[in-house]
Amino acid sequence: MQSTMMDTPLTLDHLLERAGKVFGNVEIVTHMPDKSLHRYTYGDFYQRSRALAEALLAAGLKRGDRVATLCWNHYVHLEAYFGIPAAGGVLHTLNLRLHPDDIAWIVNHAKDRFLIVDDVLLPLLQKFQGEVDLERVLVVPFSGKPVPEGSESYEDFIATASGDFEYPEKDENDPCGMCYTSGTTGRPKGVVYSHRSTCLHALGAALPDSTGLSFQDGVLPVVPMFHANAWGMPYAATMVGARQIFPGPHLDGDSLLKLYETEQVTMSAGVPTIWLGILQALDANPEKWKLPAMRMTVGGAAVPESLIRGMDKYGLRVIQGWGMTETSPLAAVSIPRPEISAKGEDAAYAYRAKAGVISPFVDIRLIDDDGKEAPWDGESMGEIQVRGPWITGKYHDVPVSEDKFAPDGGWLRTGDVATIDEYGYIKITDRTKDLIKSGGEWISSVDLENAIMGHPDVAEAAVIAMPHPKWDERPLAVVVPRAGKKPDAATLNTFLADRFAKWMLPDDYVFTDEIPKTSTGKFSKLTMREQHKDHEWSA
Ligand code: ADP
Repeated sequence: MQSTMMDTPLTLDHLLERAGKVFGNVEIVTHMPDKSLHRYTYGDFYQRSRALAEALLAAGLKRGDRVATLCWNHYVHLEAYFGIPAAGGVLHTLNLRLHPDDIAWIVNHAKDRFLIVDDVLLPLLQKFQGEVDLERVLVVPFSGKPVPEGSESYEDFIATASGDFEYPEKDENDPCGMCYTSGTTGRPKGVVYSHRSTCLHALGAALPDSTGLSFQDGVLPVVPMFHANAWGMPYAATMVGARQIFPGPHLDGDSLLKLYETEQVTMSAGVPTIWLGILQALDANPEKWKLPAMRMTVGGAAVPESLIRGMDKYGLRVIQGWGMTETSPLAAVSIPRPEISAKGEDAAYAYRAKAGVISPFVDIRLIDDDGKEAPWDGESMGEIQVRGPWITGKYHDVPVSEDKFAPDGGWLRTGDVATIDEYGYIKITDRTKDLIKSGGEWISSVDLENAIMGHPDVAEAAVIAMPHPKWDERPLAVVVPRAGKKPDAATLNTFLADRFAKWMLPDDYVFTDEIPKTSTGKFSKLTMREQHKDHEWSA
C-alpha cells in the first residue's frame, strides 16, 4: 500500500510566500547605523526579497551559485536570507569578525560569485578585495553616500526588477545557505544547508518546548546573522509571522536594553558573554529599564546558573540551547519537565543550566573512550554523536574523515563531552580539547568556570588546562572582577570548596580586565592558553 499524501517540497519559497500573504502588515524594525529606526512590513520584505531574486537571475545567477553577505543584522540581510534561495542561489554569510585573510580564504574556497555588503563595512572589504574574485559587489547604501567605483547600489540593483518574478523550480534537497565553522582547529570548514533542513530546523526550533516562537512574539536576534544563521531565528520568526527587530551594528548593553523596552521584544538570542554584560548593566541600574517579560535563547557555550538566576530577577527567562554550525544549529533545548520542577526551585535551576533534551528527529548517542555507548545515568561521560535531517553529513569540498564522522551510520562526532541523565537531559562537561587531565583524572573546565561566575564579586571567568610538571595538566582560572570588587584566590577556592573535590580546584587565579573572545563572542581558550603559556605555578 502507498500513502495517499502529496509530496510537496519543503522550501523557503513557501515560507516567503506565506509570510507575504498572511503577515503582510506585521512590522520589521532595524536599528540603523546612524541610530535611527527603520520600519517596514512583511509586505515590503516580501516584495523586495522577490525583487532581489529576480535581479539575481537577470544578473546570471545559476542554481547553486553562492551569494555572500558581509552584513550586520538588519532587514536587507533578511531579504538576502530569502531572496537568494528564492532565485535558486546559496546564501553564504561571512563572519565580519574574522581576519581579512581568513575571510578571503573562505570566499575563495566557497567560490562566491556575488557579494552583498553594508556600506559601513566597506573598509573591511577593501582589506581583502584584492585577494578574491567577486563578479558583482552590491553595496547596501545605508549612509546615502555614492557607492565606490566597481560596485553598485543594492537599491539600484533590486529596482531593476519588474515585479513578476517566478520561482525557478527546485528540489527540497537543493542547497539554500552555507556557513563556515570558526576553525578554532585548522582551516574553517563549510556546512551547506538545504531548503529541507532549514525548514525542518525552523519547525523544530519554534516548538513550545524549544524556543516556543509564535506570532505573538517580537523577536530580536543578538546572535549575528553570520553565526549559524542567527541560530535559525530569522527563518523560524518568518515562518510564524513574529515581529522582527534587528539591532544593526549596535550591540552594547544600553542600545539593546533600549530596543527591548521600546520595541516590546519578547524573545532574544545570543551567547552567554552578551548576557553577562547585560546583567551587569541591569544590576548597576535596576530601575532604569521597564522591560517586557522576555525569553532569551542562550547557547553557543555553557550557561552559568548564576546568569539564569540573575536574569530571573528582572523577569527575563533564559532558555539554554545546545548546538553547533554543523547542527543548523539548534539540536537540544533545556526546559525542565514538570516532574523536575516538582522537585523544587533548585532542581529546576540545575536543569536549566544543562544543555537540554535532544530535538525530535535528531538521534543522539554518547560514545566513551573505548568506543562503546555510555549509559544515560547522568554520570557516564562520552562524546556526543548526532545524526538527523538538519545535521551535516560532510563538509563542503573536504573529504569525509573518521575523526568528524563515525563510520557506522554516518554519525557526526561533535567533539563535545557530556553526560545524559535518565530524563534525557544532556550536560556538557567540556569540549574534548578543553577538558583538563590532572593526574589521570578529568576535570571539567565548564563546571569550574560556571561555579566561579556564581560568586558575587566575579563578572566573568574562564578556566583553562595548563601543562604541569607533576600532574600533566592543572586548572588555571582567569577572572574578571566586577567593578570595584577585589576577589582573591583563597576566597574563590573557599567558595568552590563545597561543590568540588579539593584536587579539582584551580591551582592559580589570574585577575584581569578582559577575557579574550572568539569571532562569535565566546571565551577564546586558544588565545588564553597562548597568553598564559609561560605561567609559572605558584606551588
Ligand atoms: P565555534 O564555537 O567553533 O565557532 P559553533 O558556534 O558551531 O562553533 O559552536 C559549537 C560549540 O559550542 C559546540 O560544539 C559546543 O562545544 C559549544 N556549545 C554550544 N552550545 C552549548 C551549550 N549550551 N553548552 C555548552 N557548550 C555549548
